[in-house]
Amino acid sequence: MENVLIVEDEQYMLDLMNIHLADSHIITVAKNGLEALNLIRNHDFDLIILDVMLPSVDGWTICEKIRENYDTPILMLTARSEVSDKVKGLELGADDYLTKPFEFDELKARIKALLRRAKVNKDRQEGKVVYLNGQFIINNMTRQVRLLNQDIDLTEKEFDLLFILANSPQRVFTRNILIDKVWDYEEDLDLRIVDTHIKNIREKFKKISREIKLIETVWGVGYKFNSEEAIKK
Ligand code: CA
Repeated sequence: MENVLIVEDEQYMLDLMNIHLADSHIITVAKNGLEALNLIRNHDFDLIILDVMLPSVDGWTICEKIRENYDTPILMLTARSEVSDKVKGLELGADDYLTKPFEFDELKARIKALLRRAKVNKDRQEGKVVYLNGQFIINNMTRQVRLLNQDIDLTEKEFDLLFILANSPQRVFTRNILIDKVWDYEEDLDLRIVDTHIKNIREKFKKISREIKLIETVWGVGYKFNSEEAIKK
């Protein structure tokens, strides 16, 4: 579960947010800016929900202060709906903006979108590709492949092949291109070496799931990673 910090002074609002968010997030509450900044200094939050109307120091100032040192996603809440407020918030480093009163479904959707975006950015930095809502992970840093929470043991070449495909989903790679990328410097390789390796990867996948077919054959051309298959599962 993701750690969410809510910076808000109104108890009624906090109660409502707790009701709607607490079963799918770990909620921490700060009732003013100083408290918020102290908490952020000592904990890792995945998202900050920041009300603009706060006692003593307003949400804009806190947003700016947070951004001096942290890139945690910030969702601003305010009672006003002027466009200039939105622009101000985004310029101070907020990632999104929601005007009170709002529907909690809308709040949840925004939270989800922000967390997803943050995760995609983080994964890219780590050289990790994730599909199937996290049920398929290939991590180029740790050289790990997981499907449905089970590790798959691949040889070095099998891993390289799969990572190239998964990192550019829906792009069709010819056998020649794959050989160039995976077996560089080795000459005179039979194109069928690619087919053999793909076959081995598929067999290892099949031991975990017969339904999930992530590598697709494009007849007469080569192979592609089927991210649509991955997403719809
Ligand atoms: Ca408030």
